[in-house]
Amino acid sequence: NADKAMYLAKGQGKNNYQFYVHEDESILSRKIKLERGLKRALVNKELELHYQPKVVLNSGDIYGVEALLRWNHPELGRIPPTEFIPIAEEIGMIIPIGKWVLEEACIQNKIWQDLGIKIMMNVNISSIQFEDSHFVDKVKIALAASQMPPKYLGLEITESVMQNINRTYAILEELKAVGVKVAIDDFGTGYSSLSVLNNLPIDLVKIDKSFVNEILTNSNTASLVKTMVQMGENIDFDLVAEGIEEQEQVAFLVGNGCKFGQGYFFSPPLPVSEVESLLIGKVEKT
Ligand code: C2E
Ligand code: MG
Ligand code: MG
Ligand code: MG
Repeated sequence: NADKAMYLAKGQGKNNYQFYVHEDESILSRKIKLERGLKRALVNKELELHYQPKVVLNSGDIYGVEALLRWNHPELGRIPPTEFIPIAEEIGMIIPIGKWVLEEACIQNKIWQDLGIKIMMNVNISSIQFEDSHFVDKVKIALAASQMPPKYLGLEITESVMQNINRTYAILEELKAVGVKVAIDDFGTGYSSLSVLNNLPIDLVKIDKSFVNEILTNSNTASLVKTMVQMGENIDFDLVAEGIEEQEQVAFLVGNGCKFGQGYFFSPPLPVSEVESLLIGKVEKT
């Protein structure tokens, strides 16, 4: 296939050859298209938030949602966030896009609050946003503009912010003063140790789906998850298991003291109107 991927084109002059590497070229042009696209995605209103329910595991009750960004590129179609978020981070567009996500999520939650649907709204925060010196101000602005009560906003940050532990501590204290909740996302995939959590004002830890995937089949993973739950009890943070796809995983988690979760077993991320009917259904029941 190397032959297929690469060919040599003769240019104008005798010794003037140009190399084309087909696959690399198409990856590169896709990346350039995505970079260009990201610069106008906000203005062109191509971005949308979907919301995945977060549930109390032993009852299935929805107590919150996580906002997940969706991008419909006019030419390339739906681009997964795992592809476009890193590019947005690279070109700095994650700053305005992340600000929009925060504002949009707060406005949406305020609409739900006014309908009597009092739920948590979790928003993913890139470490680039977290490092922005105006980050806490942007959180305050999103709350003030929407009039959403701060205690219903959760910020999901990743272990990568642990690199600058002193600054992270200071920002977390500021966020605590604002009244928002903070979660460590994808816990266990980075290089931070459990002990780091002991020294940080964290409300929640999300057990990464790669662990949840293995709790029934890998006894090491199962004991690691048990350890995380015990640690959470000792130093007072809640655990949320992500990526739950099976009933048996729910049973294991509930049996081992993990109270909260999310995953396709309960619901995939859904557009506003669809998640709203789920939420209204839930409010009418209770
Ligand atoms: P994340 O924050 O860890 O979000 C969880 C991801 O797992 C989501 O993927 C969700 O759709 C997916 N998921 C949920 N339940 C299941 C399940 O049962 N099985 C499996 N296999 N997957 C499940 P998504 O929406 O593609 O987002 C991927 C990542 O992109 C997120 O991981 C987050 O790191 C990032 N992301 C998404 N939206 C934003 C955003 O607004 N801002 C930032 N900075 N990052 C975002
Ligand atoms: Mg998340
Ligand atoms: Mg996660
Ligand atoms: Mg994850």
